[in-house]
Amino acid sequence: MSELAASTGQLGGSAELDHSGALVDKSGQRRGSAHKPGRLRGSAELDHSGALVDKFGRVATDLRVSLTDKCNLRCTYCMPEEGLAWMSRTEQLTDDEVNRLVRIAVEQLGVTEVRFTGGEPLIRRGLVDIVAAAARLRPRPQLSVTTNGIGLERLAGPLREAGLDRVNVSLDTLSAARFVELTRRDRHADVLAGLRGAVAAGLTPAKINTVLMRGINDDEAPELLRFALEHGYELRFIEQMPLDAQHKWDRHTMVTADEILASLADFGLLPDPVSRGTAPAETWLVPGWSAAGGGPARVGVIGSVTRPFCGDCDRTRLTADGQVRNCLFATEESDLRKLLRDGAPDAEIAEAWRVATRGKRAGHGIDDPAFLQPARPMSAIGG
Ligand code: SAM
Repeated sequence: MSELAASTGQLGGSAELDHSGALVDKSGQRRGSAHKPGRLRGSAELDHSGALVDKFGRVATDLRVSLTDKCNLRCTYCMPEEGLAWMSRTEQLTDDEVNRLVRIAVEQLGVTEVRFTGGEPLIRRGLVDIVAAAARLRPRPQLSVTTNGIGLERLAGPLREAGLDRVNVSLDTLSAARFVELTRRDRHADVLAGLRGAVAAGLTPAKINTVLMRGINDDEAPELLRFALEHGYELRFIEQMPLDAQHKWDRHTMVTADEILASLADFGLLPDPVSRGTAPAETWLVPGWSAAGGGPARVGVIGSVTRPFCGDCDRTRLTADGQVRNCLFATEESDLRKLLRDGAPDAEIAEAWRVATRGKRAGHGIDDPAFLQPARPMSAIGG
């Protein structure tokens, strides 16, 4: 059985993928294309042959765009105190270049969701205009930002007006003192103000991303969930991944999804009847609590390391310097910036993106003995 089928069990016992990506049964008969139309969400009017399909039949419709590798925090698990060797202005895509690649992704490649991230996307000057340009595209993609929340109090309104739909704010602690230890910056109040600003501007449900670390903030899981429930935020815990610039990640000390769930036992979480689909977070219902917009409150856990979801991955990534990556953990990239700057037409850029996608690996391979942490840290890929 193919690598992907083995890792996901999606194809049942009697079919596998042939080299062209078609589904074949044991006798070698073609049973259909592995390019599953059912997974092309919200793109009925698109020419499906133009989509970003990998050799295992997964279709990438969710684009993560990193707008900068710089950040105004120095989270200890992400980068060193002194920062990193940042990209130069000329290396970074201009706003027009970002807009063009997002347009090609949406109009020609079937992308239906665009998330802007970084580094810290709110420090990119052109962010509001970039969001506005994406919101004018047809079919209109879902638009979101992942941010540390600093400056969001001021920017939430303009971003909402520009067409932003949702926001994820990273918050690893409720303690202002601990926040300083974790991020090396005294900005806890700004993050909380940013969350309130997001809700006030209608960027709902506002989600919180939390990375728990053993002996550092793993005692806060219940408090963080209670805080989120009380304020109508949707909390998602993320397992720490080997993507830190310092290469200090240690599998044996990372807090696992099972441990996170065990620490939330008092909430009596129930399995979520709504299918997870291609979302990275597994979700649970929190009995006795309602979500801000009505309906049951939920909490999510993204178990990238211990509960990988690569078989359902629908993501494609663009770095701030115009490299396409198929995975956070990819060790290969494809250079779209060179094509842009050499004057390539849209069709050529779109085709290069398709070709890059075909090479997507079946899984991130963290458990593989030959696993190599990518050269780029999380902050330079776009989380
Ligand atoms: N600056 C923005 C922010 O703070 O959300 C966007 C970029 S940041 C890299 C995106 C998310 O990745 C944050 O929630 C952060 O906590 C998370 N993150 C950073 N390093 C991580 C790691 N090694 N493992 C898991 N999550 C990580």
